[in-house]
Amino acid sequence: MNDVENAPKVAEESLDPSDWSNIQALSHRIIDDSIAYLRDVGRRPVWQEMPQEVRNFFEAPLPRSPAPLAEVYGEVAEKVMPYPMGNIHPRFWSWYMGSGNFTGALADFLAAIQGSNLGGGNHAAALLDGQVVNWCKQMMGLPASASGTLVSGGSIANLIGLTVARNVKAGVDVREAGVAAIDKPLRFYGSDQIHSCHRKAMEALGLGNRALRRIPTDRDLRIEIPALRAAIAEDRAAGFRPACVIATAGTVNTGAIDDLPALARLVAEENLWFHVDGCIGALIAIAPKNAHRVAGIELADSVALDPHKWLHAPFEVGCVLLRDASAHRGAFAVTPEFLESTPRGLASGLWLHEFGLQTTRGFRALKVWMALKEHGVETFGRLIDQNIAQAAFLSDLIENEPLLELVAPTNINIVCFRFRSEGMGSGELKALNLEIMLRLQEQGTAALSDTTVRGEHCLRVAINNHRTRGGDLRLLVRECVRLGRHISGIAVA
Ligand SMILES: *Cc1c(COP(=O)(O)O)cnc(C)c1O
Repeated sequence: MNDVENAPKVAEESLDPSDWSNIQALSHRIIDDSIAYLRDVGRRPVWQEMPQEVRNFFEAPLPRSPAPLAEVYGEVAEKVMPYPMGNIHPRFWSWYMGSGNFTGALADFLAAIQGSNLGGGNHAAALLDGQVVNWCKQMMGLPASASGTLVSGGSIANLIGLTVARNVKAGVDVREAGVAAIDKPLRFYGSDQIHSCHRKAMEALGLGNRALRRIPTDRDLRIEIPALRAAIAEDRAAGFRPACVIATAGTVNTGAIDDLPALARLVAEENLWFHVDGCIGALIAIAPKNAHRVAGIELADSVALDPHKWLHAPFEVGCVLLRDASAHRGAFAVTPEFLESTPRGLASGLWLHEFGLQTTRGFRALKVWMALKEHGVETFGRLIDQNIAQAAFLSDLIENEPLLELVAPTNINIVCFRFRSEGMGSGELKALNLEIMLRLQEQGTAALSDTTVRGEHCLRVAINNHRTRGGDLRLLVRECVRLGRHISGIAVA
C-alpha cells in the first residue's frame, strides 16, 4: 500500500466522481425516473416528431470543458427520452423488434458496472456467457456438444453461421487461400422472402450477391422444395458448387416458416450445409402451443436466433449456434502471442473471441440470463403463444371489417392487410394506405410499417410485444377504418 500512497504528487485525474454521495442521489433519481418512464409508457404517444429545437440541439460541437452530470442528465431527460423509436410501447408493431424489459435494463447497468470483457478469460461473466449459449442450445434442441456465441444481433449471427458454412464447403482452405482459390463458385440457396442481411453476408464473404439464389415460394410464401431441388441440379450441371441452404423460420414479410424437416432431408441427400435463419421464429420452439411449427430446427448445422426479439432483451443480443463445435472454432480461432492461455489465473479460461469476429465483447449475456431466471423460460414461451393468438385475433377483426382486407395469410404474429376502397387503382390504394400509416404514427396512436407481398402493397403489423393487449388491436382497427374513410372521403354510414 505504501507504494500507492507514495505515488507522485503531480495532479492525477480519474473519471470517478469526486463526491460519491452526490452521485448516489442523482443515480437514485435516474432510476426513479426510469421506472416511471416504463410504467407509464402506454400513456405517451408511440412516437412523435421532434421539434426543430431538438434537432438543432444535436448539432452542438464537441464539448471541451466539463458540465455537472445532473445537467447532462437533464438534457437527456428533456431532449432524448421523450423522442424514442417507440418499440417498447404497447402499440408498436413496425418492422420486427422486441419490446425490452426492465430486468434486462438493470442487467445492462450491472454488466457495465462490472465492466468485464467477454473476449474471454477465467471469470464469472465468461462462465455465465457460456451458460446462456448452452440455454439457447437447449431451447433449440441442439446437442450439448454444439457450439455457439452471442453477438450483436441476427445479422451477425447469420454472418457467422454462413462463414462457417462457406469454409466447410469450399473444398479449400479459404482462411489461408481466400475465395479466389475455390475451384467452382459456391452457391447458397434461400427463398425469395429471405432477409436482406444474407445479401450483405454473401457480399462480405466475398461470394457476391449472385451466389445467393432466390428460390420461388409457394402460396404460403414458403420455399418451393421442387424448385430448390431443380436449382441445385442445374447449378451442379453448370459447374457450380452448391454449398448451403438457408431456411427461414419466420420471414420478415409474413412470418412464413419454411418446411424444415423436408429441407433437412434435402440437404442430407445433397450433402449441403443447413442453416436456419430463425431470427423471428426459432424461439417458437419454447412456445407450448406453437412449437410444432418449427419442428426440425434441431436438425440444422447452424441456427441464428435473436434474443432481442422474442426474448425482449434490450438491444443488442443475437445468438448463433453451430452443431459442429470444431468447425465453428476452426473458422475464427487465431491465437496471437498476447492472447495465449496460461495454466492458471486470469488467462486460463476459454477465449470467447475465437468463436466470432469481435475481440472485445460486451457482457450482453447478463440481460438474457437475469430475465430468464426471473421469469422462467415457460413465461417467455407463453408470451410467444400470446402474440401469435393476438395476430389471429387481429386477423379475425380485419376479416369482419368490410373496409379492411388481409393481403397475405396470417401464419404466426405478422398480419398483412390494407384498407380497401371499391374502384381504386393499386397506386391510389398504396397512397391511401401509406397515408393511414403515417397518420397513425404522427398521431402517436400506433406504429406499423408497410411492405409488398407478391406485388401487393399492404400495411404490416408484427406483434413482437409483451405489452400489447387485445384492446390495442381493436383500437388499431377502429383507427384504420376511421382514417381510411376520412382520407378517401367515404361518408360514415
Ligand atoms: C431481424 C431479422 C434479421 C436480422 O437480425 P438483427 O437482429 O436485426 O440484426 C435477420 N433475419 C430475419 C428473418 C429477421 O427477422
